[in-house]
Amino acid sequence: MPVEHAAREGILKDRVAVVTGGSRGIGRAIVEELLREGAVVHYFSRSEGDSLEYFRENHPASDVTYHQVDVSDEAVVAETFEKILEARPGIDILVNNAGITRDGLIMRMSSEDWRTVMDVNLASAFYCSRAVARHMIKRRAGSIINITSVVGKIGNAGQANYAASKAGLIGFTKSLARETAGRSVRVNAIAPGFIETEMTDKLNEQQRAQLIEQIPMGRIGSGEDVARACLFLASDMSTYITGEVLTVGGGLAM
Ligand code: NDP
Repeated sequence: MPVEHAAREGILKDRVAVVTGGSRGIGRAIVEELLREGAVVHYFSRSEGDSLEYFRENHPASDVTYHQVDVSDEAVVAETFEKILEARPGIDILVNNAGITRDGLIMRMSSEDWRTVMDVNLASAFYCSRAVARHMIKRRAGSIINITSVVGKIGNAGQANYAASKAGLIGFTKSLARETAGRSVRVNAIAPGFIETEMTDKLNEQQRAQLIEQIPMGRIGSGEDVARACLFLASDMSTYITGEVLTVGGGLAM
């Protein structure tokens, strides 16, 4: 069982974190992991759902704030970061997690589905990282974590837009890591394999069984599996690691 600290304590005590797509799925697990370790967490999504109520109920001692943000909207992203930074100077951790799929074989894929996926999955990471990079560089500290996918490394039929956005995130991660390494700002990516969330809920039993067959560890991952890797990259446990892509896939795509 994860340790729940009574007051705000832990390896991220008082560090300020922003998590995009924190309302559900992997993002929710990441928000929880950061809260457990004492971070002050701001999270974004288009709709709040039951998320804030859930966090307040399960992590009563924590400092957590919801912001209604569509991460593909450049102006709203910029305004929201300004607001966060006005209230408390400095963001220590940024997790670019928000992501969507609009699957289809290339011949039937609309330009809109291509653009939407690129905007939500890739351009958003640029908007959010640009908003925090200056402050992190000035303070000579910070960790940016981009949630990519194994699909960004090996491709997937029917997901050309999604795979391209996720491969783009890997190039973005490495380039930004090179730009900021000299100022002790670290930028890494996590490539989850198959993780149990609403995104994977759409699979039928047969698809699920076929999928498990491909995973050497023989199970679909959980949001917590990804969140723990994220905690490692967000914390001082990984101070000499930058520009890396950490696969969390139970051996898939090794
Ligand atoms: P979910 O669909 O469960 O959650 C997605 C989250 O992103 C929600 O909080 C959603 O909230 C938010 N979101 C979506 N679009 C936007 C937007 N335009 N602006 C702001 N927030 C948005 O997805 P997962 O948890 O499964 O996926 C999280 C990340 O992990 C994604 O980047 C995904 O590509 C990646 N991933 C997932 C895998 C899996 O197997 N599940 C495997 C590999 C990678 P709302 O809809 O209210 O905006």
